[in-house]
Amino acid sequence: MHLLEFGRRKILLDCGFFQGRRSESRERNSRFPFDPTSLSAVVLSHAHIDHCGNLPNLMKQGFNGPIYCTPATRDLLAVMLADSAKIQEEDAEFLNKKRKPGEPRIEPLYNRVDVLRTLKLVQSFPYWRLHDVHPDWQLQFVEAGHLLGSAMVHLKLPGKTLTFTGDIGRKGLPILRDPSPIPAADVVICESTYGNRTHPPVELLAENLAALIRRTFERGGKLLIPAFSLGRTQTIAYLLHKLIQEGRMEEIPIFVDSPLAAAATEVYRLHPECFDDETALLVQENPDVFGANMIRYVRTAEESKNLNRRQEPCVVVAASGMCESGRILHHLKYNVHDPRNTVLIIGFQAPETLGRRIVEKRPELRIHDQFVPLNAEVVVMNGFSCHADRNDLLEMLTPLAAQVPKLRFVHGEKDQAEPLMQTLQERGFSDLGFPERGATLAW
Ligand SMILES: [Zn+2]
Repeated sequence: MHLLEFGRRKILLDCGFFQGRRSESRERNSRFPFDPTSLSAVVLSHAHIDHCGNLPNLMKQGFNGPIYCTPATRDLLAVMLADSAKIQEEDAEFLNKKRKPGEPRIEPLYNRVDVLRTLKLVQSFPYWRLHDVHPDWQLQFVEAGHLLGSAMVHLKLPGKTLTFTGDIGRKGLPILRDPSPIPAADVVICESTYGNRTHPPVELLAENLAALIRRTFERGGKLLIPAFSLGRTQTIAYLLHKLIQEGRMEEIPIFVDSPLAAAATEVYRLHPECFDDETALLVQENPDVFGANMIRYVRTAEESKNLNRRQEPCVVVAASGMCESGRILHHLKYNVHDPRNTVLIIGFQAPETLGRRIVEKRPELRIHDQFVPLNAEVVVMNGFSCHADRNDLLEMLTPLAAQVPKLRFVHGEKDQAEPLMQTLQERGFSDLGFPERGATLAW
């Protein structure tokens, strides 16, 4: 969250969920460091839960103004927030069952009704047009290439301009158009997730994936891919479908085992206006770019469990991305002991998560209170990240040195932001910073 104040107005940029230990998350998500009723509007960059997940709570605490975003973000928001509410409700129910007599009942942070009320506040604007949202401020969404509907937010305020990049994508990732240049402004707030890391080239991804599938299938094994339901799952589905279509891989059984991913993929299909030229052309030839004919989208829990009884080789993509919850857990539990199988890790794995233990190839894993030996092959492919790396960020920011008086980095760790700032200083930026939580910038 970034709070902008000018004149008597307050605008909030993004309203994400803090995700961490349960008690800390609850504390941080349930209280806002400002009065929600004092906000004029919220501007939303994209529909990942760490950017939008706390909107229903903001509404519950009195916010009643407009939430501005792109049309695709609006549609993804409906899917993402409904899923988040379901998790909140189930979480509260679980905690209430363990509650000791006399302890107060735990309420979910928000429920599905709160989500419906929040969605009524949303107003969507397409990319690029400058919108006069109010006589004293204008808003423009610029393509960020990170997720369907993702946008950089460019604001014209009285006497000042500001760009908030939200999350920036990578050049050459399939499906979406590449990020547009970052609009110059008096203040630029930029993400820095991979400010000090470089990703392997996108072109290698499909080849490596096909080779891995061949190797696993020759052993008679299954390939398990833990993936976030939104973004990465669609990229994988698209690549697999393309490999088969182009005859670079045989038709194989592929299961995307996540109701949320299935719902999000439907939203992708509804927004071809966000696709890059290659995908747009493919859609004209064959509307099924996410492979509903070749990929089975598993919705019911029953069908998900049945996958474990399958003896033949197959690919299973399931959430959660860090293997902390969701259906991937039971697939791992039944399959990691078998050396014929492969686990493919395609995203960042935070310390202390099951995903991290798999990356570290621990001899034994604890899953659902059961110890299982890890004999499956483990492969890490980092190229699937939908965040710009150090080279992408430098390429986008360097031309702005003479045009951006103030540049601030957010959404990253210090060890990622600082080396990036150092290089940008050498390239002509003078006023750079990595603000702590709660810091204020005068302008
Ligand atoms: Zn994101």
